[in-house]
Amino acid sequence: MSPVSAPRSTKAAPPTDLGLTPGRMRTIRSRLLEWHEAHQQPFPWRTARDPYSALVAAVAAQQTQMARVIEIHERWMRAFPTLGDLARADRADVLRVWGRAGYPRRAVALHETALRCMSEHDGALPRDPVALLALPGVGPFTAAIVRTFGWDDDAPAVDTNVVRVLGRLVCGDLQPARETSPAAIEAIAARLFPPGDGARWNPALMDYGGRVCLPRPKCDECVVASLCAARPRFAAGEVAEPVRAQGRWAGSDREGRGRIMHALRTSNDAEVRETTLLRRLDGGDAEERARLRRLLGTLVADGLAWRAGGRCGLGTARATE
Ligand code: SF4
Repeated sequence: MSPVSAPRSTKAAPPTDLGLTPGRMRTIRSRLLEWHEAHQQPFPWRTARDPYSALVAAVAAQQTQMARVIEIHERWMRAFPTLGDLARADRADVLRVWGRAGYPRRAVALHETALRCMSEHDGALPRDPVALLALPGVGPFTAAIVRTFGWDDDAPAVDTNVVRVLGRLVCGDLQPARETSPAAIEAIAARLFPPGDGARWNPALMDYGGRVCLPRPKCDECVVASLCAARPRFAAGEVAEPVRAQGRWAGSDREGRGRIMHALRTSNDAEVRETTLLRRLDGGDAEERARLRRLLGTLVADGLAWRAGGRCGLGTARATE
């Protein structure tokens, strides 16, 4: 699942009348919660009432399939069971534990958040939403997950799955990520949110988007089909246009950065000569070597690697020596 900070939109303003009468809202809530009772999966961060565990899950969930989130969360919590353990860890170890989970800046953000909590928030995650949102890598979705699963606070969590469900159900848009305005989604999410029940409601909506109201929706199995504004359009044969095709991976900067990170993570030495690293990466011709050097520079800028005097390594430890 992916958090949504600002879905693209072709519509400008939130609708003033969402068509959400008290009766319609009651039915939508009760049917989705009932569906979730029967289909929920026992993810540990949803029931632990541990804000740190919820934070790790929410950050891991960014642009990552749920099956991998479980794996990352388990590995991370085993290595760093508390925020304090994470704050005390070496950056290189943090990146090794993150491993091949992708987008390693997320691991750096978690580490920096832990350090900030130690110095600014008495060693704990702040419950105040403004303070939470000021932490590295914490956007509205992550903050909402931490607040609902950590403290049972009222905070609607909106990821791409939730955008899809709400935009279809209430606005009748087939591809809400592109068609429904962020303001409309925000208004609907706030209106439908059942006060005091966020720890059940947020995962119910997220999971519904992940299992029933999919990009190609299973309308025939849907428990809210009779209330859905998009249902007649799908029934008439209209289809949701794909949001975007996945960019080319081979030869991309992301692939190159991933190769460098893998080489640094799996190196037996804490530091390695840049020329040796390039050889290990099979740097090819001068152009490819120059590209890999440039990409190493971007990793350094992101706090994922260091380089000094022709040598380089994982994390930031050597950069401060
Ligand atoms: S009827 Fe179809 S489009 Fe509407 S909420 Fe259900 S699965 Fe989604």
